[in-house]
Amino acid sequence: MQEIKIERTKTPKAKPADQTRLGFGKIFTDHMYIMEYTEGQGWHDPRIEPYHPIVLEPSAMVFHYAQEMFEGLKAYHTQDGRVLLFRPDKNIQRAENTCRRLCIPPVPQEDFHNALETLISVEKDWIPTQPGTSLYIRPFIIATDASLGVHPSHSYLFIIILSPSGAYYPGGLDPVKIWIEDDYVRAVRGGIGEAKAGGNYAASLKAQMKGEAEGYAQVLWLDGVERKYIEEVGSMNIFFKIAGKVITPKLNGSILPGVTRATCLELCRAWGMEVEERRISVDELVEAAKTGALEECWGSGTAAVISPVGALRYGDTVMDIAGGGIGPVSQKLYDTVTGIQTGRLEDSFGWTVEVK
Ligand SMILES: *Cc1c(COP(=O)(O)O)cnc(C)c1O
Repeated sequence: MQEIKIERTKTPKAKPADQTRLGFGKIFTDHMYIMEYTEGQGWHDPRIEPYHPIVLEPSAMVFHYAQEMFEGLKAYHTQDGRVLLFRPDKNIQRAENTCRRLCIPPVPQEDFHNALETLISVEKDWIPTQPGTSLYIRPFIIATDASLGVHPSHSYLFIIILSPSGAYYPGGLDPVKIWIEDDYVRAVRGGIGEAKAGGNYAASLKAQMKGEAEGYAQVLWLDGVERKYIEEVGSMNIFFKIAGKVITPKLNGSILPGVTRATCLELCRAWGMEVEERRISVDELVEAAKTGALEECWGSGTAAVISPVGALRYGDTVMDIAGGGIGPVSQKLYDTVTGIQTGRLEDSFGWTVEVK
């Protein structure tokens, strides 16, 4: 395993005094992790340094052809003062899959893990302690060759930054309204939809703006070919409960395989619920809403964990779900996942990893 050089800041910043006003992704901690890749040499010189701007050539490949990947996970403070990561092995494996899809040399998994744990350990005091708060972890890799030729870069930077984040639901779980987009698409099978890549987000902004202008918080994407089958939400996977069964779109190459998605599936199965991963058309949803069979809908993702959906809009059809409120399965998933993440509930699945 690589040895990480640590240079501590001489001018530590004041920690945010009011944890109710952290927001998301706006404040960064004192240090960052950085490592370089050079062809022939591999990943080298891992170090933790005071948080600082990076200098790149204007011709750096990432600016022109978006050879970039990222991950997102959180560290949580438990009531008895421990620090927990939630299923980091899943993020590290997904990072490797994303790298392979984007022709980025993957960071060896044990080095990735060591980078996360070492940086979080250095920044322990930055993890907020109020209920619902966490330390958001953003690892990413960018292509840095100074070249406009279209080919995989020969040099890269792997960086991890940390951001103390506020409670997603300061007033308790809160249902969102979602816009089903039938014009723009996010990804197609064979593209990079299943990779966690910034490029996918650039493709999503236009529809997000459209949905917001109509008063909807998020966009639900349909498949890129027929625009008929449900895929996922902006930065969340999507679940339905129809006539007692939990249903989520099957991973088909254009859907991001969420860690929270996998967690929801494993929990529902452990609870003895009937669970299906399959294709589900928007027509089936509209029909289920009409007959009253559509009992619940929720999004799953690291940021919100579980996001109950109170209404879906498709063209002129507005589907109200769970009376616009929070369904019992959504609530139970939220309570269970956040309970395990923060050490409130026993982790019988072995999902949490303690950072010393
Ligand atoms: C990250 C992400 C998700 C959710 O994945 P989690 O691992 O559960 O956080 C879903 N969709 C997209 C497009 C994403 O980028």
